[in-house]
Amino acid sequence: MEKSKIGRRFEGKVAIVTASTQGIGFSIARRLGLEGASVVISSRRQGNVDEAVEKLKEEGIEVFGLVCHVSNAQQRKNLIEQTVQKYGKIDVVVSNAAANPSVDPILKMQESSLDKLWEINVKTSILLLQDASPHLSKGSSIVFISSISAFQPPASLAMYGVTKTALLGLTKALATELAPHTRVNCVAPGFVPTHFASYITNNKTMRKSLEEQTSLKRLGTTEDMAAATAFLASDDASYITGETIVVAGGASSRL
Ligand code: NAP
Repeated sequence: MEKSKIGRRFEGKVAIVTASTQGIGFSIARRLGLEGASVVISSRRQGNVDEAVEKLKEEGIEVFGLVCHVSNAQQRKNLIEQTVQKYGKIDVVVSNAAANPSVDPILKMQESSLDKLWEINVKTSILLLQDASPHLSKGSSIVFISSISAFQPPASLAMYGVTKTALLGLTKALATELAPHTRVNCVAPGFVPTHFASYITNNKTMRKSLEEQTSLKRLGTTEDMAAATAFLASDDASYITGETIVVAGGASSRL
């Protein structure tokens, strides 16, 4: 969307987006920032953090960046503590980090890959929220980034898909646990050509087939995912909690 058409729904709000120095996370941080939020971005590498902070600052966004590998307990704590020290509260948390270490079928997958999938895609989201929850403001909002693979895990993404299915359950469970103070929702993207998906979307035949599987005949953009996330995180969604929005151009996910 053109910058001039974007609203200011997050004026005075503080938003943390994990894994946000590129791809979907970066676009979400940018969208929330353009709408007035002070955004806290992070990822594993300082160089990537610095570069992303610069890009967002150039657009006039109030941004703070730090290194946070989501599996590192100290870095997670630091992310929350520094955010609260700098901005005094947390209004939005977008839990976006994920890994897909193996394309093996589930019953052939190494235990180390199973552990990594569970740890990065599910467990660390919970641990980060345990640290963040004492600082969540009244009316705050959490958004998990799942995947269309959560509904029908494809062969090469089967166990990854199952961890994304777990996020749908986590969304429901935490929506109950954190109500009425905090809303909890989820976005399930279809395929978006980012670094993460490049092994699929860079293959011309696969890309064409994925485009054909959508009603809109195109892959998603990171901005499409940011728009849906911003909606769920905003007061426009103030009566929505425990829900998942599929953002996949009509690719089939559920009835
Ligand atoms: P991406 O473009 O590859 O970006 C990944 C970002 O995460 C980078 O900023 C990376 O920076 C950071 N990162 C990676 N591992 C991290 C970790 N352990 N801790 C902290 N930061 C980490 O990926 P993406 O496609 O935007 O994916 C974002 C989310 O969307 C994921 O949850 C993914 O499952 C979901 N999703 C993506 C698609 C798709 O087609 N792209 C579809 C459905 C769902 P560093 O390298 O500096 O850490």
